[in-house]
Amino acid sequence: MPIPPEKKKGFLPSFPPPSRESVWWLFGLAMLVWVLFTLILPMAQVKQIPYSEFKAMVREGRLQEVTLGPSYVSGIPKDDKAQGVRIYTAVKVDDPDLIKELEAKGVPYRGELEGKWAPLILSWLIPIALLLLFWKFILDKLGGAQRNLLSIGQSKAKLYVDRDTGVTFDDVAGVDEAKDELREIIDYLREPEKYRRLGGTIPKGVLLVGPPGTGKTLLARAVAGEARVPFFSMSGSEFVEMFVGVGAARVRDLFEQAQQKAPCIIFIDELDALGKVRSVSPVAGGHEEREHTLQQLLVEMDGFDSRKGVIIMAATNRPEILDPALLRPGRFDRHVLVDRPDIRGREDILRVHCKRIKLAQDVDIKVLAARTTGFVGADLANVVNEAALLAARRNKSAVEMEDFEEAINRLISGLEKKRRVMSQKEQEVIAYHESGHALVAESLPQTDRVHRISIIPRGIAALGYTLQLPTQDRYLITRSELLERLTVLLAGRTAEELVFQEISTGAQDDLERATSMARSMVSAYGMSEKLGPMTYGPGKRPQFLEETMPLYGREISEETAREIDQEVRTLMTEAHQRAHTVLEAQRDILDTLAHKLLEKETIEGDELREIISTMRQASPTST
Ligand code: ADP
Ligand code: MG
Ligand code: ZN
Repeated sequence: MPIPPEKKKGFLPSFPPPSRESVWWLFGLAMLVWVLFTLILPMAQVKQIPYSEFKAMVREGRLQEVTLGPSYVSGIPKDDKAQGVRIYTAVKVDDPDLIKELEAKGVPYRGELEGKWAPLILSWLIPIALLLLFWKFILDKLGGAQRNLLSIGQSKAKLYVDRDTGVTFDDVAGVDEAKDELREIIDYLREPEKYRRLGGTIPKGVLLVGPPGTGKTLLARAVAGEARVPFFSMSGSEFVEMFVGVGAARVRDLFEQAQQKAPCIIFIDELDALGKVRSVSPVAGGHEEREHTLQQLLVEMDGFDSRKGVIIMAATNRPEILDPALLRPGRFDRHVLVDRPDIRGREDILRVHCKRIKLAQDVDIKVLAARTTGFVGADLANVVNEAALLAARRNKSAVEMEDFEEAINRLISGLEKKRRVMSQKEQEVIAYHESGHALVAESLPQTDRVHRISIIPRGIAALGYTLQLPTQDRYLITRSELLERLTVLLAGRTAEELVFQEISTGAQDDLERATSMARSMVSAYGMSEKLGPMTYGPGKRPQFLEETMPLYGREISEETAREIDQEVRTLMTEAHQRAHTVLEAQRDILDTLAHKLLEKETIEGDELREIISTMRQASPTST
């Protein structure tokens, strides 16, 4: 019976094919060296001859020096006739005449106790030593620094490098918040003593989180460049295709080397490739290598002292799939969000990249920034490059505006397919949605102040955001406050409804949060008049699940459940109604905000309040 292919696969070691080839190549080379050194060379250099011939050589004066051992005699030939033979040796015969012959010819001779083996042993030892050295070299490669283990062909390929990156913060634009957060790290790397003296703890691991292409890798290199320290980097994805045991050895080696060069930065790019949640079932298999490597990384991170001045940075665009063990205190516990740039950020990034090309007079970078909503740094670098190529193709002496326009148009269609940029209409809907949240939050008396609104997605979430920050820590929240929060949550959706007579899927998250909040009000906080001051459900609920988890393990009747649902619906409808009233009364402000948001993409809280208050003063009817 033929073996089904997937079964057959199981027997093969999980070497990637090209590497297996290089193993054989290497093996052949080793054999060749071995044969050369241990067989041919010594054979060519030490020649065993019959005693009679040896004696004849002495008689003919062909030896320049002779050694007499207990059971061997050996002689070094005079250079001219040797033909590559370095030592002649013969089994000793009891022959006192030999001495006389030697004396007669004036050949220097000496006795040796065990040494008669010396030439022989030497001729074997040298090659063996060489061979050992050769193996050591290979083993070093296995455990050590070079990249894809046995692919000697691409010699010097590196897994990590130790060098100054030469990148500075000036090369990274549009991510000012992330830069601010990283300044402390740079400060520390520059003067570790200053911090050490006071005994403060320095973060060991810093995780850069953000969508692809926002400049995480660049930023990590810039931190090293700013601090002027060595930068050791490796990429998580490189470990996936590695031989068993190599990844872990490499991590060990990396940390060892880095500690010798402290202060320095270890950077692990694409941490998610390495740090995915460890598989639950051991049967699944296939991931052991990655897990070993991850385990080793955890061990190394725990085992070393950040006061030595080594900072570990990592980058990922999928923090949600990381093994929680990686995020524990003492590991990657400091998170820095590297976000998509807004219009001003994009302008700065374009300026950085335009430094390298020759711009025509008519290029207006502000306009370019306005036309590239949703683009990240890598996209913008691409735009500039593409524009330069287009201009070159047209034999221009400088890159003109039309080249940029065309480059942007080309990129937009590709990015729209990848859902990285939004269409005009989508942007408008989001602008109204976020303005709705913001305006209602600013209009109700007890809500948290709006910190910022934006139509540029934040982090990895898909759409815009309204960021509200509480003005003080809260432990108790009243019913009316909760009702207002509910109203704010529903306001985004209400604004869409009001303006477009239609709702989009963008409001789903809001709706979920609002629903579970309303449910908690009814069933956990006893805030419903109809159901009275009692809780429904399994008594005390786990503290941290509050709000995110509806009732579980119901101990209530169907009828009560229905009543709860009804009460939840009433709360939601009331909140929706209220949001509607607030927004409708201030429709002009809503429009202004939305348009301002479309134009600027991000509005800070203070500016927002200013717009609202000036508009209210202008037309005091709408309150
Ligand atoms: P990530 O690691 O977040 O995916 P990279 O750092 O690899 O992004 O960015 C790729 C390239 O895009 C960079 O080498 C740089 O040329 C450009 N780039 C990305 N973000 C920025 C930025 N904020 N400022 C300037 N250039 C950027
Ligand atoms: Mg990267
Ligand atoms: Zn919303």
